[in-house]
Amino acid sequence: MLLLNPGPVTLTERVRRSLLQEDLCHRESEFFNIQEEARTRLVGVYDLDPAQWQAVLMTGSGTAAVESMIASLVPANGKLLIVENGVYGERITQIAAQYHIAHEVVKHEWMQAPDLARICAALDADRAITHVAIIHHETTTGRLNDLRALGEACRARGVQMLVDGVSSFGAEAIDFADTSIAAVAATANKCLHGVPGAAFVVVRRAALANASSRTYYLDLKRLATLQDQRNTPFTPSVHAYYALVEALRELADEGGWQARHARYAALSEQVRAGLAARGMASVLPKDASSVVLRAFHLPAGVDYPTLHDALKARGFVIYAGQGGLSKELFRISTMGDIHAADVERLLAAFDAVAK
Ligand SMILES: *Cc1c(COP(=O)(O)O)cnc(C)c1O
Repeated sequence: MLLLNPGPVTLTERVRRSLLQEDLCHRESEFFNIQEEARTRLVGVYDLDPAQWQAVLMTGSGTAAVESMIASLVPANGKLLIVENGVYGERITQIAAQYHIAHEVVKHEWMQAPDLARICAALDADRAITHVAIIHHETTTGRLNDLRALGEACRARGVQMLVDGVSSFGAEAIDFADTSIAAVAATANKCLHGVPGAAFVVVRRAALANASSRTYYLDLKRLATLQDQRNTPFTPSVHAYYALVEALRELADEGGWQARHARYAALSEQVRAGLAARGMASVLPKDASSVVLRAFHLPAGVDYPTLHDALKARGFVIYAGQGGLSKELFRISTMGDIHAADVERLLAAFDAVAK
């Protein structure tokens, strides 16, 4: 079965085999070697200076990392502005509400790009705002939100950015030199090609100084402090860490995030062109879309469950639109161990199904 959903991904044999290493006690030096290699390689994905940046690991899915970042990095007297243009932005608002974090929302329709003028007006109207939360790749629609322009607006106002990079870290450009970026949250099992269970926040060390401690298990500062001392507060998902390290070695061997970006770009273009030729247009224009995932209009007269089940019977798992979008579109991600020949077979399966 080939997974074309946005994580968990189809694993390479190399990463799959890495799960079968020896049993490890998480209080032994062998485990801390693994933890350290993962953290060092994560900071290295975007060539960051370890004196300024730190990768903080935790056990959980991508949402755990996002929740840890939001609950920890908005200080007790801080205020968060959330940019919503899809399910994942809305999730951050729910997290902020759950922790009683002071927040405002700039809400957009799911199909819209963030409106910088509205965001700037919201920042200017409320000088109490200290942080802006934004989804980099809004997986709801496949849109890549523009961090560069938002970063500029934040820098001009002394506001810090908290970025959900869960479905972009490792495959899209992230300008960590932008001094407004305080942290990026992500996970092992999307563009990095690991397994679910290990998530992380790449955080500016300086941003941890004002961290608050609203959550026990996901307390970013405590995790960061202990991991810097080759320690861990709880039992981590040891096997997921094995896989993450192997996936990061593989990413480096293959040429890093830039090579992965190029590979995804070629595959997603192959999918786009193939489906367009079969009458299924992509929902967003190419320059608005990530290379990681694209959304397509359902073929005329075929509903999603029918399309999904017919493709699954042929070995492909595609992904539904979220909420009301499930009646309009489907999504295809080309992250994971997917190659051009797989896309050819996928398109042939569409021929059998949607004609
Ligand atoms: C996948 C994803 C998440 C987290 O989802 P989990 O199911 O918790 O791994 C968060 N944000 C974005 C943008 C995502 O694509």
